[in-house]
Amino acid sequence: MNVQPVNEEILGYAPGSEERVKIQDELDKQMSEIIDIPCIINGKEIFTGNIAEQLIPHNHKHVIARVHLASKKEMEEACRSAVRSQEAWIDLGLEERCKIFEKCADLLAGEWRMKINAATMLNQSKTVFQAEIDSACELIDFWRFNCYYARGFHKDFQPLVSPKGVENSTEIRPLEGFVLSITPFNFTSIAANLPSAPAIVGCTSVWKPSRNSYYSNYLLMQLMMEAGLPDGVINFLPGSGAEITKVALSNPDFAGLHFTGSTSTFQGLWQEIGNALPKLRSYPRIVGETGGKDFIVAHENCDHRGLLVALLRGSFEYQGQKCSASSRAYIPKSVWDNISDELFNEIRKIKMGDARDFTNFMTAVIDKRSFDKISGYIDRAKKNQSCEVVVGGNYDGSVGWYIEPTIIVTNDPDSETMVEEIFGPVLTVYVYDNESFEEILQICDKSSPYALTGSIFANDEIDIEKAFKALRFTAGNFYINDKPTGAVVAQQPFGGARASGTNDKAGGPLNLLRWISPRSIKRTLEVPQEWDYPFMRSE
Ligand code: NAD
Repeated sequence: MNVQPVNEEILGYAPGSEERVKIQDELDKQMSEIIDIPCIINGKEIFTGNIAEQLIPHNHKHVIARVHLASKKEMEEACRSAVRSQEAWIDLGLEERCKIFEKCADLLAGEWRMKINAATMLNQSKTVFQAEIDSACELIDFWRFNCYYARGFHKDFQPLVSPKGVENSTEIRPLEGFVLSITPFNFTSIAANLPSAPAIVGCTSVWKPSRNSYYSNYLLMQLMMEAGLPDGVINFLPGSGAEITKVALSNPDFAGLHFTGSTSTFQGLWQEIGNALPKLRSYPRIVGETGGKDFIVAHENCDHRGLLVALLRGSFEYQGQKCSASSRAYIPKSVWDNISDELFNEIRKIKMGDARDFTNFMTAVIDKRSFDKISGYIDRAKKNQSCEVVVGGNYDGSVGWYIEPTIIVTNDPDSETMVEEIFGPVLTVYVYDNESFEEILQICDKSSPYALTGSIFANDEIDIEKAFKALRFTAGNFYINDKPTGAVVAQQPFGGARASGTNDKAGGPLNLLRWISPRSIKRTLEVPQEWDYPFMRSE
């Protein structure tokens, strides 16, 4: 029986709650140790001795792990291991594979929850709430719903017709060969979902985690092994993405790329795959969810306080490091005059600091590279005649990579921070004349190459409909009177088009379809015994 799952309930972590006590104990424990993280190939831990330290972004002198990076030898072995393991993994059958991933979900919902949430809080500097909705709830949902979807289409994709004397069927085969899963730092759930979604339908994977999330990702690899994942189905390979890609593409059994990360990295990978094509056994599937320049467009007739809350939460939660974070807003003058002072006051109330202090709304950005990039945007905006930094704008990297929540107001809708992805706590606002709503929809559609998420704030259905049509291709996830972040598995399948990715909608069944390569089977029960046809007979 295929019973539809429900979304995992979000725990609140209020003072005095049981979960609050447990997470604090787990945070203390993880802060008191330094673990060694190996490569895991064919189920074996390999300590290479080539070590990178994993630091805590909000306290970057603190080391939480020593990571053993893969060399070419481990990379080659990981690809071979994935190929060798595939036949037995296919033979296990969908039902048994689903049982393993449903066990993963149960472990994460139960005894592993605090461990993975605490690791995400420390490793990627998330508040407890941001960790809970990502590394616990979203990943539990990915695992449970993907099994549900896979069972569904294995049944639904059978041929409609089998005439008398014939039995038609479809075998839902996985891709032949291994999938390379290259994962981002910012969502623990996405990191584990990229190798495991193809695995549910019978693929095997080489998993290259981000150098900024080795710690939480390694714990998830351990969880999957505890749930019974057979050796070699997912091979965990910390190391250089460029080198792993080169090794994977030199193996003819490379069957697909499951990527989430920046647009420039993905575009480079696509080109490399194109060059490798003559050496590959199959045409690989390429799935990539990439950057965004996500917007909020307000109409003069909108809920002002609702807009203010959406701007604040949408732009600054998790320090703006969500691919869906609002980073440009188009606001009519009358609305801006009404909300701007209140918005600035609310932003000045935001507390920023260590993820273990639960009164903080924000923590640090992920690393120095990111800190330098974001502060560079802020500094250039300070010098740009068309821009004014109206709130925030300061940063301090001495203890952790802290950047204040920042708003820039510009009179140029094409200025750098209105069109480029910054991936930090920086919102740029373009204030428009109240009567230019339709023109502003065109500017929103045309000015940035991205098309990931976006929101319209309006109360009149006619205005909502205008935005809905004008912005049809401007966002793969479109919100009406809400912030553009916080997509939920099975509710708003996620992904964007244009420069934002292949839009294969993680959290819905469409993504899983990219990892299958069905075989159509006809069985003839009444085997023809004559070779000629009636039309050939003489009259
Ligand atoms: P990134 O592109 O720097 O890294 C992503 C992964 O690619 C990492 O594992 C990294 O090691 C690897 N990588 C980097 N260079 C490589 C190369 N030359 N060859 C092979 N692999 C390479 O991105 P990030 O900083 O980890 O994540 C942030 C980006 O991800 C943002 O652009 C964000 O918008 C995007 N993102 C998109 C979605 C989505 O669903 N659209 C979700 C999360 C994040």
